[in-house]
Amino acid sequence: MNNFQLRCHECGATYPEDAARLTCPSCSAHQQPGGPTRGVLEVLLDTLPDRWPKAPASSAEFLTAFLPVAAEHLAPLAVGGTPLLGVPELRRQLEMPQLWLKDDTRNPSGSTKDRASLLVVAKARQYGYDTIAAASTGNAATALAAVAAASGDRAVVFVPKAAPEAKLVQMLAYGARVFPVNGSYDDAFELCLAACDELGWYNRNTALNPFTIEGKKTAALEIAASLAPECPDVVLVTTGDGVIISGVAKGFADLEHAGLIAKRPRLIAVQPAGSNAIVDALHRGEDNITPISGAASVADSLVVEAPRNALLCLKQIRASRGGGVTVSDDAIVAAIPRLARHTGVFAEPAAAAVLAGLDAALGVQLLDRDERVVLLVTGSGLKDVATAARSIDRPSPIQPRLESLIERLEASS
Ligand SMILES: [Zn+2]
Repeated sequence: MNNFQLRCHECGATYPEDAARLTCPSCSAHQQPGGPTRGVLEVLLDTLPDRWPKAPASSAEFLTAFLPVAAEHLAPLAVGGTPLLGVPELRRQLEMPQLWLKDDTRNPSGSTKDRASLLVVAKARQYGYDTIAAASTGNAATALAAVAAASGDRAVVFVPKAAPEAKLVQMLAYGARVFPVNGSYDDAFELCLAACDELGWYNRNTALNPFTIEGKKTAALEIAASLAPECPDVVLVTTGDGVIISGVAKGFADLEHAGLIAKRPRLIAVQPAGSNAIVDALHRGEDNITPISGAASVADSLVVEAPRNALLCLKQIRASRGGGVTVSDDAIVAAIPRLARHTGVFAEPAAAAVLAGLDAALGVQLLDRDERVVLLVTGSGLKDVATAARSIDRPSPIQPRLESLIERLEASS
């Protein structure tokens, strides 16, 4: 197995692998209740491959080459290996000849979060835990439930009671023990922390468990492998807690370190206007966020008052010379059918928001139309059909007769 250390991004201290170590003890002493996680640890691998593995990206050979995991602990589920689509219709519409879409709706539970859960569940198995817990706005819990189901482990999840119906049904169908929490995602996060401490469960909380960032880096590895020997110039990522974008940053950093890419792309965070703590801090030039009291958006997966991974995420976006944009809920809802009609990819609000973010980024010259740009589409539209329904016109039924059809066709022409 790939040996590694854990390095604190705040103070630089390194720690050997330890199942119980989730954060840096000296930096986490400064933890504010409900604030961004202090002392987030990054995985520092002893060795990285100096050439691309020949095996597909979702194979054990590829994953064990880049991740701190043994093949025997990986759940038998085809996580990752999602396509990088060339989207000719969207290219033409936007006059962006080098635009790609990373279609992560194709993961087993329908979201990018499967990438993190695959690694976290594998580490839990290695460490001898049989119960893994997570707080989630929906997708991380669903992903944990799916991967745990495949590997025969128990998943316990805490979700805000407002989580979309489809996500709740999905995680229950996978057999997770679900606790809807009468409160926000932030409340669910704190309860999960306390429960893991008290009950001895392995904690998959995003921005706390270092393997959540490390697992999500595979999205970047796959983007780079698909475009090699070229590199993307810009990658846009919708952002809630800031973990997916940190995972993407980590992936490109590892590849640069390994000599497999010449340079890292600029990373652009896209947040809803009603839940924009990270982008707000970017624009104000601050190293820390101001929590958004009463954060709200139609993009439920991105709603968080105090993004847990804000400190590391801000650092990485700046190091990439990237930036951030906010988008309105109206723009997010409108982006759902626009993305679907121009690419064939049906995305949930939090994922379609990346297209609205591309418009916004073009508007403020964060990127040029002739650059190599990748949109990471993080979750399937089937997870929140009710919101998608707001952006389409539903036709009333016609009589089962040809003349009724002709009448309707003429009326709409
Ligand atoms: Zn530290």
